[in-house]
Amino acid sequence: MRIDIITIFPEMFEGPFNHSIVQRAKNKGLVEIYLHQLRDFTEDKHRKVDDYAFSGGAGMVMMIEPVAKAIEQLKSERNYDEIIYTSPDGDLLDQPTANTFSTYENLIILCGHYKGIDERIREHFITKEISIGDYVLSGGELAAAVIVDSIVRLIPGVIGNEVSALSDSFQNKLVSPPVYTRPRDFRGWKVPDILLSGNERLIEEWKFEQSLQRTKQRRPGLLEEE
Ligand code: SAH
Repeated sequence: MRIDIITIFPEMFEGPFNHSIVQRAKNKGLVEIYLHQLRDFTEDKHRKVDDYAFSGGAGMVMMIEPVAKAIEQLKSERNYDEIIYTSPDGDLLDQPTANTFSTYENLIILCGHYKGIDERIREHFITKEISIGDYVLSGGELAAAVIVDSIVRLIPGVIGNEVSALSDSFQNKLVSPPVYTRPRDFRGWKVPDILLSGNERLIEEWKFEQSLQRTKQRRPGLLEEE
């Protein structure tokens, strides 16, 4: 899979993309991530990417020309499954969306700044708008890093059994059951007996029951969705 990110702060990705699972996926050749500095697609000497809003009021808007140029160049090189814009009013990122994205071959993610991007970019180039939650970030970079992490860990071969993506929360419309490791007794706080019983069937039943109970308590909405 190939992911192209268009951003004015490529350095912001050095942390999230050079460690842990995403780093491992890159090393294994299972994902290639290219960071494109939007300012490289400007033509003036100040490498300007923002301008005043026609509507007036506070805040700048990301200009149409450099973004159009960046996207058009990438599109001339290969076909993209989606061209994503990170936006607080986009579709909320959820596990089914991440699952779908993880099957794609080529993806562009455009990171916004200021008051956002010129609406015409959204109308004419963007095929999918994604929000990572109902709050406003200063820029799309953190959102893009979250989207990429959620996708990359699902690519077959990226993670092994130790984190087993398929048993994570939301994969079956349930949150995960609680997990424990050694010691069995820490200050009198004990691991539930059932987990030490060795009875696989009962343990599976217990896990499912715990998942269901937690989902009802914490995320009842998951059970209501079709
Ligand atoms: N004026 C805009 C917010 C701009 S925030 C509004 O009220 O909708 C600047 C940029 O940060 C946005 O263009 C977007 O790319 C990114 N961003 C902010 N919050 C986000 C969120 N919850 N999810 C995804 N991207 C977000």
